[in-house]
Amino acid sequence: MPLSLTTEVRMIKGVGPNRAELLAKRGIYTVDDLLHYLPFRYEDRIHFSNIRDIKPDGIYTIRARVMSGQAVRTMRGRDAIYHLLVQDPTGQLPCKFFHGSYLEGRLKQGQLLVLHGKAEIDKMRPARIEMVNPQIELLSSVDHSLAAHEADRTAAQEEIDSTEVGRIVPIYEAIGTFGSRSIRRTIYTALQTLDPRMLDVLPEDLRARLGYPSRFQALAQTHFPAAEESVDALNEFRSPAQQRLIFEEFFLYQLSLALDRRAARKENAIAFRLREENIREALKRILPFKPTAAQKRVLAEIAADLEKPAPMNRLLQGDVGSGKTIVALQAAVVAIENACQAALMAPTEILAVQHFLSARRILERGGYRVELLISGLKSAEKSTALDRIRSGEAQLVIGTHALIEDNVEFSRLGFVAIDEQHRFGVLQRKRLMDKAAAHGRAPHVLVLTATPIPRTLSLTLYGDLDVSVLDELPPGRTPIETHLTSEPHLPGVWNSIRLLVATTVVEVGVDVPNATVMVIEHAERFGLSQLHQLRGRIGRGAQKSHCVLVGPARMTDEARARLETMVRTSNGFEIAETDLELRGPGEFFGTRQSGDFGFHIASPLRDRELLEQARREAFAIADSPSQKIALDRILRGLPPEWQRRYHLAKVG
Ligand code: ADP
Ligand code: MG
Repeated sequence: MPLSLTTEVRMIKGVGPNRAELLAKRGIYTVDDLLHYLPFRYEDRIHFSNIRDIKPDGIYTIRARVMSGQAVRTMRGRDAIYHLLVQDPTGQLPCKFFHGSYLEGRLKQGQLLVLHGKAEIDKMRPARIEMVNPQIELLSSVDHSLAAHEADRTAAQEEIDSTEVGRIVPIYEAIGTFGSRSIRRTIYTALQTLDPRMLDVLPEDLRARLGYPSRFQALAQTHFPAAEESVDALNEFRSPAQQRLIFEEFFLYQLSLALDRRAARKENAIAFRLREENIREALKRILPFKPTAAQKRVLAEIAADLEKPAPMNRLLQGDVGSGKTIVALQAAVVAIENACQAALMAPTEILAVQHFLSARRILERGGYRVELLISGLKSAEKSTALDRIRSGEAQLVIGTHALIEDNVEFSRLGFVAIDEQHRFGVLQRKRLMDKAAAHGRAPHVLVLTATPIPRTLSLTLYGDLDVSVLDELPPGRTPIETHLTSEPHLPGVWNSIRLLVATTVVEVGVDVPNATVMVIEHAERFGLSQLHQLRGRIGRGAQKSHCVLVGPARMTDEARARLETMVRTSNGFEIAETDLELRGPGEFFGTRQSGDFGFHIASPLRDRELLEQARREAFAIADSPSQKIALDRILRGLPPEWQRRYHLAKVG
């Protein structure tokens, strides 16, 4: 009986209970899961390098036989360096394996190996070239003759399994004791016995237009590429088969965002009136300063959304200090003037209180009533606040998570702003929106973030939101001067400030216009974007501000390079790009969020172009009525695992 994608892995020949258990720990249960465990690297084992041709610093794959091997204990006793000598018909090559005791007794004289690694000059004997800790794979066939003549090699090769040499070979990350070679073998067996007539989630015409292979071909060729493929292209994930799999992941993810957005648009929101003279007057009256051109532009974008009967879903991106708060307050005033309530949710009590104080100061001029709701309130205060929110007396409610608790009822919530969104999950955003659904209308939503997210990633993360950018700082700021110094100089630094020492008070988002000096100890432990946020707490007034970054006495080159980025620039987007490149998207967002994407092969950073293409194609299908049949077919054809992964179960 042929395997199907939903067959459990233990049905594959060679997968016993132990291996099935190892795979299960990695979330691999079915043949489909296994086929998405992709090689991280490929080796050209058609054209092996000759030992004779090896030069220092080159990376080579060679096939050679074991001449001798020996573990030598180091002085410290515990561990050993394994010294291996191999030969091919053109020469001999010494190899060293640190922590190599595991190799003892495993490598027999005459054993055929594939070695992959970088050639280096032996520091003790500069005339000699060696490989240190090369990757090593034992070939199945053991030929005990040491005379590695051509005739022997051909004979040996015929015995050798076709997954090991004579092709471009996929290399997998080991799963516990389940090594690369056995994984390869298992996937090979699975592909041999798999029914190739599998459903293809990409519509036929789309696939033809983009020139992608079928799903089965893409999987088969990603694991076992044809001999003509370029190994370099494969290692950069640029082969047509890999590109198709990457596209597919982005496509389904974007499709789920597109369907979310479509569903949101079908909901009714209250179309605000805001052209009336009294509303324009009200907006002007609350402004404590002249808005920047960027603030005016963004407010116009928001206003255009608010006038529509479909709910706004907008992300407002703006560097620290760019003045997002006043824009959110203006939108709140529009809601209030339209007889609705507005809510502003902040991630911490400190921020909520600060927003409350400044909102009250600004909005009292217009006679608006502002309410604070945080869990730190006394219970009498809290129940009064809840009453005022329920009756509609509270017009703007500012708070923390306390806002989304079950006991909070609004009278007529029409506008929601969420500050520093990256601290909240999508679910929390939705729960606050549901507070408005109680009276049958979805609220207009504005999400504020100071994390300058490179465009690619904001598409991935917030693909269901429209984006506005505040790319201009209010006037009158003096640029912050940033200095990099090391721990031994710290006493001098402290002497020069003696101001005030703050720890958590300096929250992201806190606004203290007359703070002018900041010292950050152990600066090397922070992410650059985090440092940028912290530094954004100073330099908000007209006086010159200084930021001192203190690193350890001995800093790695990498740490120094990162911190010097902070000295060089104060452009949040530039810093974010650098941070992202140095740390990767997982670290950048915290693992939970990047894990949520559930991508196996796609990388938003590396595959930016495919992401944008997939987004265009997915939104075109989701948004066009004439594509309804194609859309239904995609959704019906999705295996359950994919429905879960991309939350695509909801048929539009
Ligand atoms: P963020 O975008 O980091 O949330 P805030 O909204 O806290 O920034 O604004 C930072 C500071 O700049 C506040 O003190 C605010 O009053 C001030 N501000 C905002 N817009 C302007 C402007 N157009 N002109 C002058 N000062 C402004
Ligand atoms: Mg802010």
